[in-house]
Amino acid sequence: MARKTKDIRNVTLSDFYCTKCGMKGIPVFRTIGQEREPGHLKKLFCLHCQEETNMAEIRPRGKYTLDDFWIEYQGGNFTSSGDRIEPWKNFVSNYKKEEK
Ligand SMILES: [Zn+2]
Repeated sequence: MARKTKDIRNVTLSDFYCTKCGMKGIPVFRTIGQEREPGHLKKLFCLHCQEETNMAEIRPRGKYTLDDFWIEYQGGNFTSSGDRIEPWKNFVSNYKKEEK
């Protein structure tokens, strides 16, 4: 059977943060079980930049947290076009190692 209607119990609200300005974007609903990998980047319109930018997805109780985003953002792991230089797991674990 095709599931056409979205059951509200099966969706989760993801936050998006702009890789360019670091501001929070417009949240997007995701169907549970169909989420992307942690720290997924998605092209969305940023209200602050007034253009489409890559935004990092942060899910409630997800593996990729706002802390991880800030480490990447402030540590310079995003290029000016919003692409990731290193996989976030590597980048964040290296960063935490250096901090010690
Ligand atoms: Zn922005």
